[in-house]
Amino acid sequence: MHYKSTRGQATNYTFEQAVLAGLSPDGGLFIPDHIPKAPADFLTKWADLSFQELALEVLSLYIDPSEIPRDDLRQLIDRSYSTFRHPEITPIHKVKNGLYILELFHGPTFAFKDVALQFVGNLFEYFLQRKNKGIANEADRHKITVVGATSGDTGSAAIYGLRNKKDVSVFILFPTGRVSPIQEAQMTTVQDKNVHCISVGGTFDDCQAILKDLFANEDFMSKYNLGAVNSINWARILAQTVYYFYSYFALLRQLKLQPGSKEAQQLRVHYSVPTGNFGDILAGFYATEMGLPTTRLLIATNANDILYRFFVTGVYEKALDVEGNVHATLSPAMDIVVSSNFERLLWYLAREAAVDAQTVPEQDRDRKAGEIVEQWMLDLKKHGRFDAGPKVLAAAKRVFDAANVSDEQTCATIRAYSHPANPASQPAYVMDPHTAVGVTAGERMHPEMDDKTNVVISLSTAHPAKFSEAVELALKEQPGVVFDEFFKTVLPKEFDGLLEAERRVTVIPRAEEALVIEVIARELQQ
Ligand SMILES: *Cc1c(COP(=O)(O)O)cnc(C)c1O
Repeated sequence: MHYKSTRGQATNYTFEQAVLAGLSPDGGLFIPDHIPKAPADFLTKWADLSFQELALEVLSLYIDPSEIPRDDLRQLIDRSYSTFRHPEITPIHKVKNGLYILELFHGPTFAFKDVALQFVGNLFEYFLQRKNKGIANEADRHKITVVGATSGDTGSAAIYGLRNKKDVSVFILFPTGRVSPIQEAQMTTVQDKNVHCISVGGTFDDCQAILKDLFANEDFMSKYNLGAVNSINWARILAQTVYYFYSYFALLRQLKLQPGSKEAQQLRVHYSVPTGNFGDILAGFYATEMGLPTTRLLIATNANDILYRFFVTGVYEKALDVEGNVHATLSPAMDIVVSSNFERLLWYLAREAAVDAQTVPEQDRDRKAGEIVEQWMLDLKKHGRFDAGPKVLAAAKRVFDAANVSDEQTCATIRAYSHPANPASQPAYVMDPHTAVGVTAGERMHPEMDDKTNVVISLSTAHPAKFSEAVELALKEQPGVVFDEFFKTVLPKEFDGLLEAERRVTVIPRAEEALVIEVIARELQQ
């Protein structure tokens, strides 16, 4: 299996090259040269595998054994998920008939990004160890410097994925005072020597702009061998495909249906996914294309709803608030202006519906799709929008639906499930605001959900304690609820004392590339 770019220029990258580079040199994102099909008998063969065994089967289809031998891949997977607190890694939880929450927050930082970044951290280490085999002289060893910018979740998940990894250093920029207290504490209390947090006087966009400059700075790039772990890294998408398969089989087990049976085939299974950069739900697209019998994938956005609007009009258009900023919502991990991973889906849509099959011969269609994507991205950059046209929109709607959810609706959903009208038939379930966006969208699009014909699996991307401010806002006015007492019942013990623990962080007063370079150079010298 080789990898190519969505802009059509780069082809024939190995998995290792695609993962270590992150972004393709032509500015595109890496995609596999074809989407492999799951084996014909996977519905029976994979049905009872553990999460780790299933991951080995799925990932093997995208990573040749000549690149990573199967036993090595197995070890990488086992090591990556040994840090999870739940034996099933990503369990499903029934909240009512027809509605199942896929809990993705049982990793070290209590959010779904751990599922991918625990694996990516081990992959980086594996590739470096292999390159450095037999190199005793410290100065000759291959090293990688991972630099990332975060508004919260990515930073802590990257740090926990890369902490204490040999020959890897990680620097995370975050905007001073603009990440939640728990998120800041999760990042800055990590004491491993290879982890460096930089608190930047500015906004998240300022941090991202510095990051962009650093990756465009060729001297700096080559001197420090920069690596990226942001959500466009292919390995992150790949690792996330596993829980779509796993949850499908877990659902059939709960419903006591034989995979592949007539009853199972009649069951419509929809996945509702709280979406920002489109990484999580894109993994569902790959799973579907591989053969997983998902009925539809539902894109759930908050007020930053560029994707929702695309699915209404076929126009992809940036929108900002009156002050020219991204809308600040109760689900901040989804506060984005454009969704970076959407480019990957656009390539498949362009290939299917925008390339003229009458005039373009088969062998030229991949390249032609890359050119169309390139033009769309240029338009987006120049004019803030592009129109993909009705054919592309129709192709997108074959697999996806979209819904946007307000903060008020998010709070109402958190309340409704925390205090169900009839606790005997529907036990209380406290969900975080991102999860509530997905559940709200699922209920809106599939009001007829039940256990017989229409099931919604709604992805839960964070533990409620991680976004407790929003949960508190939703629940504080509830009659008879003492929030603090109530919240103690869901608070993980790992958060005890976290806010008071010793911190390691460098503060830079202004958002300037030179100041960041200075910190990185100084820390790496030591
Ligand atoms: C990152 C994140 C999301 C959005 O996922 P994408 O892959 O960017 O669409 C949703 N919820 C939480 C809690 C996250 O951390």
